[in-house]
Amino acid sequence: MNDSNVTPMISMTHVQKHYGDLHVLQDITIEIPRGQVVVVLGPSGSGKSTLCRTINRLEPIDSGEIRIEGELLPAEGKDLARLRSDVGMVFQSFNLFAHKTILQNVTMGPTKVRKVSSADAEKHALELLDRVGVTKQKDKYPAQLSGGQQQRVAIARSLAMDPKVILFDEPTSALDPEMVSEVLDVMVSLAREGMTMVVVTHEMGFARKAADRIIFMADGAIVEDTDPESFFTAPKSERARDFLSKIL
Ligand code: ADP
Ligand code: MG
Repeated sequence: MNDSNVTPMISMTHVQKHYGDLHVLQDITIEIPRGQVVVVLGPSGSGKSTLCRTINRLEPIDSGEIRIEGELLPAEGKDLARLRSDVGMVFQSFNLFAHKTILQNVTMGPTKVRKVSSADAEKHALELLDRVGVTKQKDKYPAQLSGGQQQRVAIARSLAMDPKVILFDEPTSALDPEMVSEVLDVMVSLAREGMTMVVVTHEMGFARKAADRIIFMADGAIVEDTDPESFFTAPKSERARDFLSKIL
């Protein structure tokens, strides 16, 4: 068997992190294989965003190890920049560059970081914009788009870097309800195409439809790590039962 088939896409080993006295990540150990779609659930403040942010080192950790396809994520330097560009991130707040057009938002990373030619970057960007259904908006600026369109552009921008994994941190939480499904549909299609994804969301429909695995966190620790069917029909912990009773 080829090595890349067995090396996890992401591995976290005994990861600890504090914010002052707050033990925000408590001995997190997980392996996420290539192509897996992991939905991270848990009450507000349980450490879900911090978990995502440590995976591409937007947040440093106190101890433990994080590896991307077997390669240790360093604290800084060239290797960090390269590994980080393999890990896409889509945030609740879109985070598009306000003074760049939609097309420029998508071509910027590949031309600046990946050193792709402008012509190639533009060709790929147009394909991606088409795929997420916002081709018509290509010459507009982010503020001229709806939230749902902006978030789809954010996904296209992430895909333009040809990432190995994409982290989504509550990607639909800031959207008006009627725009949630247009973003989830794009995510479901990515999941079906085999993208490795870590998705923090409260959208249980998405979790049931697309997740291969549910990680339930509470107070900085992983409390359950199981398949969606088991989690939704027979949660083992009191914390998960309590969480589900409030959200479903
Ligand atoms: P979640 O995404 O599950 O709501 P977070 O990872 O955002 O949880 O936060 C976990 C805990 O860490 C919360 O108690 C939050 O207040 C705290 N926290 C998050 N970011 C910081 C920070 N930069 N400094 C201090 N405390 C933080
Ligand atoms: Mg959060």
